[in-house]
Amino acid sequence: MSKTVLITGASKGIGAATAILFAQKGYNVVINYNNSYESASLLARSLSANGYSVMTHKANVANKLEVDLMIKETLYKFGSLDILVNNAGVAYQGLITDTDEIDFDRIIDTNLKGTFNCCKAVTSSMVNKGSGKIINISSMWGQVGASCEVAYSASKAGIIGLTKALAKELAPSGITVNCIAPGLIETSMNSNLTVEELTEFVETIPLGRMGSADEIAEAIEFLASDKADYITGQVLGINGGYVI
Ligand code: NDP
Repeated sequence: MSKTVLITGASKGIGAATAILFAQKGYNVVINYNNSYESASLLARSLSANGYSVMTHKANVANKLEVDLMIKETLYKFGSLDILVNNAGVAYQGLITDTDEIDFDRIIDTNLKGTFNCCKAVTSSMVNKGSGKIINISSMWGQVGASCEVAYSASKAGIIGLTKALAKELAPSGITVNCIAPGLIETSMNSNLTVEELTEFVETIPLGRMGSADEIAEAIEFLASDKADYITGQVLGINGGYVI
């Protein structure tokens, strides 16, 4: 029987690339989105047209009730949930003095609480099965901190702490929990940066280029595979050598 993967924030960017890769590898894929109905539907339609098994589900990961419903529907449709990829995320750039409480809460609620909500919602079915793989998407800014990204860096550092704690808690149940910390990846998340800003940034990356969403998807797929059965609680940096 095919395994099932749920990817949050799969309407575009890293999540969409991950959904495509898992579909090609024969998984049932749940494409979660929040606002981008059009791109999520387009992605699902093109995968279905190629014979792949997919469904979309709209849910704001920051909302526990919506997340619980999404997991219930996934279990109802596919019978089990084997892999959870907590990828949904939002960024915010600004001085701390310009960061309102509402901005801070939105970033923490989406990135950190969203990851918590999804992990919590899948835990009992994975524990009952005695297996499962959870892959959380942090950021290199969660490892080293980014100037003018206090809320984002805190949320991503929180994901690293959550990953390590949950890995210890769930290991006895046969579930692994790992984390990927991407560097500068070419997606719409960086569309606010000017060409000059991007060029300047890229010059500081040892491998001399941005990463692609496909490169992150490949690492996620590896951590979800049997090849990674003995890896848990780890943070895999994929950043072109920016953080060593
Ligand atoms: P994009 O902006 O391209 O995609 C973000 C995705 O997150 C979208 O699908 C969006 O869905 C979804 N999303 C946002 N808020 C919510 C929510 N409340 N509930 C459900 N889904 C939500 O970004 P990337 O693909 O670049 O980012 C993916 C992850 O990788 C993020 O966690 C990001 O922090 C992380 N990352 C990215 C880096 C980069 O350089 N690009 C570097 C390091 C980490 P919708 O549009 O439907 O709302």
